[in-house]
Amino acid sequence: MESWGLPVSDTWRLCRNLDEVFAFIEHWDKQRFHLPMGIDGIVIKVNSLLHQEELGFTAKIPRWAISYKYQSESATTVLESISYQVGRTGAVTPVANLRPVQLAGTKVKRASLHNADEIARLDIRVGDWVFVEKGGEIIPKITGVDTAKRGLFSEETKFLHDCPVCGTALVRTEGEAAWYCPNEQACPPQVKGRMEHFIQRKALNIDGLGAETIDLLVEKGLVANAGELYSIQYEELIALDRFADKSVRNLLAGIEKSKSVPFPKVLFGIGIRVVGATVAEKLAEHFGSLENIAKASFEELIQAPEIGEKIARSVLAYFAAEENQAFLEKLEKAGLQLAMTGGPATESEALAGLSFVISGVFSQFSREELQDKIKANGGKLVSSVSAKVNYLLAGENMGPAKLEKASKLGVKILSEQEFLDMLVPTI
Ligand SMILES: [Zn+2]
Repeated sequence: MESWGLPVSDTWRLCRNLDEVFAFIEHWDKQRFHLPMGIDGIVIKVNSLLHQEELGFTAKIPRWAISYKYQSESATTVLESISYQVGRTGAVTPVANLRPVQLAGTKVKRASLHNADEIARLDIRVGDWVFVEKGGEIIPKITGVDTAKRGLFSEETKFLHDCPVCGTALVRTEGEAAWYCPNEQACPPQVKGRMEHFIQRKALNIDGLGAETIDLLVEKGLVANAGELYSIQYEELIALDRFADKSVRNLLAGIEKSKSVPFPKVLFGIGIRVVGATVAEKLAEHFGSLENIAKASFEELIQAPEIGEKIARSVLAYFAAEENQAFLEKLEKAGLQLAMTGGPATESEALAGLSFVISGVFSQFSREELQDKIKANGGKLVSSVSAKVNYLLAGENMGPAKLEKASKLGVKILSEQEFLDMLVPTI
């Protein structure tokens, strides 16, 4: 990157062994305070691209990079009060309001207490002296309580019983740390939060609509959920103080445009608990349509790649709720993309039931094109070699360990041409 003229930090070093890595860590533990910005640690990466390829990725992280975190700076201050925030999913998060204290260059006033378990674990009480830490993270963390400084009349913290916004009694699901407000349909932060989730860039990406506008539309009673955005009229919007002709037209155009957003993003946008953007994509690809996901059984759901029991249960619960069905009907009526169009799963069924791992570099097609071909012909892509995998599609420059593992496990190894031959129909 340096040779391309990009500005590159001159603090990186190539270390030849672990001793050199540790020496580097130790050096920066002291020197980091002289840097022009705060850092919370360093990243150690395997330098060889070949070895990186060989090591690959887990579902979440590369196996060839790891971060080393330095001990954070800490301070002590007083917990003045605890307030509670209600999120999009109804989860209630306790927040510590602290007597302002200077820490790692900023004034800290608030810290997340995460959930009721964390409050119990810390046995934190209003009036307590607490230890606060802040590494490179933006949100400071309370790491402990100085119980020696606790007053005689301090009272144990009792978590809320009722939603701080709508007053509904909170509920907690077995095995989950968070308390939830179950009033999903009418609790304002949940209604607004779900709509903000729906319109965000990674989801329906509706231009001209932001958090403030949503607040306004919900407060004026124009919409109660994202499905109602699609029936909103010009006259209703222009009647609001904040809107001029141009902004109304922009908003309506943004809503119209969202009707062509592809299905995986719509599925993410509808906001099923624990279904993030990646999971939504997997579900969309595997099942092909909202209808198929809605009628899938628990067993069918967990057979989809990377879908675990927790996600499966959440999906089932979502589609079982009547309110959600009514909401989805609105989206369908509005003409949103509720199924995969073209692309994958349409060329043939030649690879149905077969799973593939791709590795190396290919001559006729790029790796992405081959991945699309596998999906388009009914095959399944898997990230690492195991006994359950049918084929390893091997290109040039593939790591020897992967090849060895594949042959040891009896996974068939295919060249690019052999793979392409599989797609030609045999008559
Ligand atoms: Zn509520």
